[in-house]
Amino acid sequence: MIKIDFALAISIYLTLSLLLVIGYWIFYNWYRGKDIVHESQYIYQCPYCTYIFFHYNVNKEVVICPKCQSYLQINSFNGKEEKSDKK
Ligand SMILES: [Zn+2]
Repeated sequence: MIKIDFALAISIYLTLSLLLVIGYWIFYNWYRGKDIVHESQYIYQCPYCTYIFFHYNVNKEVVICPKCQSYLQINSFNGKEEKSDKK
């Protein structure tokens, strides 16, 4: 049986848990860093209360502002043009 003292066991436990957290943090930021540029397309600003928020569900045309609870049509603001197939 391997004999270790209590202080060494605590330090090993803390070191392993700290390495686990750092590893998860690096893994999370490694994949998140690629999407930071593209997240700007999900930023919307409420025209009534000027609150800026993220909206990731692009399939919904009507969004509720998280601050003032106003209904907003996302195709008509932030300078985004509505796509139309009519010619
Ligand atoms: Zn608002």
